[in-house]
Amino acid sequence: MGELKYKVLVADDDDILRTLAADMLCEKYEVTQACDGLEAWNKAREIKPALVVTDLMMPGMHGYELCELLKGPGGVPGVKIIVTSSKSFSVDKLQAKKAGADLYLVKPFLPSELLSAAEKLLSGAEERGEGGKKSIFDKISASEASVSSPAAASTGAGAKPVKVRFWGTRGSCPCPGPGTVRYGGNTACIEVRAGDTLIILECGTGLRGMGASLVKEFGSRPMEGHIFLSHSHWDHIQGFPFFVPLYNPKNSFKIYGLHAAHGSLKNVFSGSMAEDYFPVLLSDMGGKLDFVEMAGPQDAGEAKVKYRHLNHPGLCIGFRMETHGKTITYIADHECFARLSGENQESMRQDAEILDFARGSDLIIREAQYTEDEYSKKKGWGHSTFDDVVKFGIAAGTRKLVLFHHDPEHTDEIMDEKVVYCKKLVSPAGSEMECEAAAEGMALEL
Ligand SMILES: [Zn+2]
Ligand SMILES: [Zn+2]
Repeated sequence: MGELKYKVLVADDDDILRTLAADMLCEKYEVTQACDGLEAWNKAREIKPALVVTDLMMPGMHGYELCELLKGPGGVPGVKIIVTSSKSFSVDKLQAKKAGADLYLVKPFLPSELLSAAEKLLSGAEERGEGGKKSIFDKISASEASVSSPAAASTGAGAKPVKVRFWGTRGSCPCPGPGTVRYGGNTACIEVRAGDTLIILECGTGLRGMGASLVKEFGSRPMEGHIFLSHSHWDHIQGFPFFVPLYNPKNSFKIYGLHAAHGSLKNVFSGSMAEDYFPVLLSDMGGKLDFVEMAGPQDAGEAKVKYRHLNHPGLCIGFRMETHGKTITYIADHECFARLSGENQESMRQDAEILDFARGSDLIIREAQYTEDEYSKKKGWGHSTFDDVVKFGIAAGTRKLVLFHHDPEHTDEIMDEKVVYCKKLVSPAGSEMECEAAAEGMALEL
């Protein structure tokens, strides 16, 4: 009887890295490749691999969800999982382990590291034949997950101005008080109006004030809105239960974000409103809420919205929104890969892809939390510096850069200084980019 090779499935959206990993493994194992999480999940159910090597930040289904499905009741019995990622945060390692990963390798890694990890996990594993259990999971079709379609928002004739208003500008923790009167003390929340479409970026504490304003504006008319969530850290969700329009049965809101590292997007909100934390349950809010786990570009009224994974502890995504011929890119929270992990091929590739994601925007709203000095003490916290962000805006060729997610320690005086500092970086770089810091109540028209 000939030697049976273990089946190994390699999932990564980067063609070069996936092929490299497959090449490393193909001498010893029977290797199958998948270019995103959903393809990997479909192939895994079919071939029942002994080992899955997966990236985390893939379009469509991310690596955490793939791990959970593989190790879940309808998954592949006995499968081992190696997660490979450019993210080196301990939170990601912990979450990957919780989701079912057996080992975590930070990219870039040596071929020998991957091989010995695979050997370690497979030694002693039972040789698997064909015909394992059939899956009971019926994941949504691949079509919407794998297609990365260009924006198809209306342009030219009939295009309406796109209005942006900042209701919460702060990162990490609300910090109202005499020192933050001008730039604001509420956490992340931005309103975008594109024609008749209402879009809300983030549910930080600024959402409360926006709700009161919308109630005044709409009166007894029903309200429809699209809420996009980058991630579920407190400063991005804390305003949600205080957003009054959600309690009116006439109103309907779609809430877009990723399937969480453990459980659904809806669960993030119902969990944060559980009886220990809040007097009203999510299920008792009254308004029509629809939680949409993003797996590709999304139509939201008159806007087309794409997402991209960022470098922040846990899952976190940025959005690129195209509407009425205008493009807004929103990136918070994010620490440049190369700043955190040093300049290597992988970190530079990730940074270049994020730059491409933002390229040619009319407006970039970008987290800028630290000075260079502060960064030296807070490296690895998942945030950027003023210098990083100005460089990023210039390289992306944006017309306007708005600094966002201000550090709670940065008073109005400090922010004034930082805005001057950032503006001074622009023209020596040969750019005409406008640069300012978001202030609570600030309104822009594109
Ligand atoms: Zn934040
Ligand atoms: Zn965060």
